Amino acid sequence: MQRAGELLASVFGFSGFRPGQADIVAAVTRGENVLAIMPTGGGKSLCFQLPALLQDGVTVVISPLIALMRDQVRALTEAGVAAGALTSGNTEAETTEVFAALDEGRLKLLYMAPERLASGGTRNLLRRAGVTAIAVDEAHCVSQWGHDFRPDYLRIGDLRRALDVPLAAFTATADAETRDEIVARLFGGVAPSTFLRGFDRPNIHLAFTIKDQPRRQILDFAAARRGLSGIVYCATRAKSETLAAALRETGHVACHYHGGMQADDRREVEARFQREDGLIVAATVAFGMGIDKPDIRWVAHADLPKSIEAYYQEIGRAGRDGAPAETLTLFGPDDIRLRRTQIDEGLAPPDRKSADHARLNALLGLAEATGCRRQLLLSYFGEASDPCNACDLCDTAPEVFDATQAVRKALSAILRTGESFGAGHLIDILLGAKTEKVTRRGHQSLPTFGVGKDMTRPQWQAVFRQMMGHDLIRPDAERHGALRMTEAARPVLRDEVGITLRRDTIRNATSKPAVRGLVREEDAPLLSALKAIRRALAEAARVPAYVIFPDRTLIEMAEKRPGSLDEMMGIGGVGTKKLEKYGSPFLAVITGCDERVHPARRKLAGQPTGAIFDRLLAAQTELARGADGTGKHLTCSHSTLRKLAETRPRNLTDLGRIGGLGDTKIERFGQAFLAILGDG
Ligand code: ADP
Ligand code: ZN
Repeated sequence: MQRAGELLASVFGFSGFRPGQADIVAAVTRGENVLAIMPTGGGKSLCFQLPALLQDGVTVVISPLIALMRDQVRALTEAGVAAGALTSGNTEAETTEVFAALDEGRLKLLYMAPERLASGGTRNLLRRAGVTAIAVDEAHCVSQWGHDFRPDYLRIGDLRRALDVPLAAFTATADAETRDEIVARLFGGVAPSTFLRGFDRPNIHLAFTIKDQPRRQILDFAAARRGLSGIVYCATRAKSETLAAALRETGHVACHYHGGMQADDRREVEARFQREDGLIVAATVAFGMGIDKPDIRWVAHADLPKSIEAYYQEIGRAGRDGAPAETLTLFGPDDIRLRRTQIDEGLAPPDRKSADHARLNALLGLAEATGCRRQLLLSYFGEASDPCNACDLCDTAPEVFDATQAVRKALSAILRTGESFGAGHLIDILLGAKTEKVTRRGHQSLPTFGVGKDMTRPQWQAVFRQMMGHDLIRPDAERHGALRMTEAARPVLRDEVGITLRRDTIRNATSKPAVRGLVREEDAPLLSALKAIRRALAEAARVPAYVIFPDRTLIEMAEKRPGSLDEMMGIGGVGTKKLEKYGSPFLAVITGCDERVHPARRKLAGQPTGAIFDRLLAAQTELARGADGTGKHLTCSHSTLRKLAETRPRNLTDLGRIGGLGDTKIERFGQAFLAILGDG
């Protein structure tokens, strides 16, 4: 593992492992079968990329997403790792190069689309290529229940048996059923070493708000984050289109995305989102797995997601780079009705439906939470935690009240009217409103009539919504959404347990979440200058901006302001190769000078020899015209100085053996150089 730590720094430029990574890297490197469940942005790729470098032979990586594979291959190549991809997106030249590298045994990582597994030649190719491990990204694609199901993933189990090599599977999908399916289909039912942990994404701020004027709420949220990349998830295709248009009208760069679009149009949006800084995509959940953008700064839900897993996965697309990201989820009684109906009217078998209701309930509980949201979310995934200080309820403690009596009145109204009506009519009864419907049904003579006059209509609406959120009542799909009482409500009705609800009225629904910046105010101009140079370099190299450096790295540069390439090497995300390639232009922006560093010096950055090189260079500049400043101008080449720093000759004879140092130069600089080399 010492070697792993070295490569982590020198190749990937990271100063340490993220939670869970070290154990997974160790197990994969030992050649165990591994199933790792890590949150999005947790750093899964490193868990198979690093072991691949530590092992002999080639690691085959199966991934469902061509764009993602190509980006990873580009990033690895940038970092000096021999990686290639075989996908339908390849040019002929790329494919030829991959085959050549395989033949010559140069390749460490071979990315492959699952479709390839269907062709008979692939298995032979992989056998000849000396494959020693298989890594499977997005392993939940083997699950027939998930919406990401890929039939070709079912061939992976056969491949593992045929090659007889260890397999490491990675996914962010947490639920137990999916996990069992992965074990059955990829590992032939034999439990692999399993790693499940670290579901917290502390850089993502959580917030829910009751829908009030939903379009206004989304536009306000986006306006406060102008110029930052974001996603707005919508429940319907039509809404994704109208919201995208509304965003454009208010001056944002925005487009829509949904499953009803042509494949080409969808790909174009994906590609634009990946490359552009500050694009907003209003989308249905179809905009999902294809996105691997690390610097999404916010995710808003214009409608309630369908389950707590879906919510977690969708907000999890924000802030994968670890820098602060914000989320806002809007919800209202109509959302709850819609999601319940979708489950009830779906085609799943009954036990699946009740599991789906339970997942929706968990999300509603989160929406109606009265304490820290993250604590509740993590507890759902089996993790205990302290209040987070990064959710709306930690920011402002909610106003709560003992709602036991109010809830009992509402339940009573429901039961006395035969569980046949929706909230509107029930509230009329509670408020004692003699509407036409009330008199027609004779409901003015019910004992419950008018018992709720102590609260206003909006307050009663909030009570009913929260009762749905706590799953005390459910709309009945077969009776046009009439509210029915659930088993969970019985103890409240019998006054055996009390219930606390939030007193969030319309007033709360209109309050806006606070805006926070990525860096301190004084660092913001430098950060945008760094982003500008990154954009220029990315455009020149025709790669997405984050392939040069992720946001997180630029933020750290802006905050720490490294003054030299050596200091730059200490910034997270800066490895040797990248430093060599991009270090100087970024340093120039930070130090405000345009002096380019010689490539010979750049090669030594981050190493002790770098400092010796600098001293040799200083000594030679001092002596360029001799000790008295009147001699002939003499200098040694940078590569000669680099050789000196690296080989460290101890006397004049050894010094003379270094090419490029003739007698005159030895006479001029010899003693000074030896003094420096002697005390380093
Ligand atoms: P996912 O688990 O979603 O596949 P990635 O592998 O794409 O996540 O990693 C997410 C981000 O975290 C990337 O920008 C990656 O460079 C960064 N990252 C991964 N491991 C580390 C680490 N040990 N230290 C710092 N950053 C890391
Ligand atoms: Zn919190």
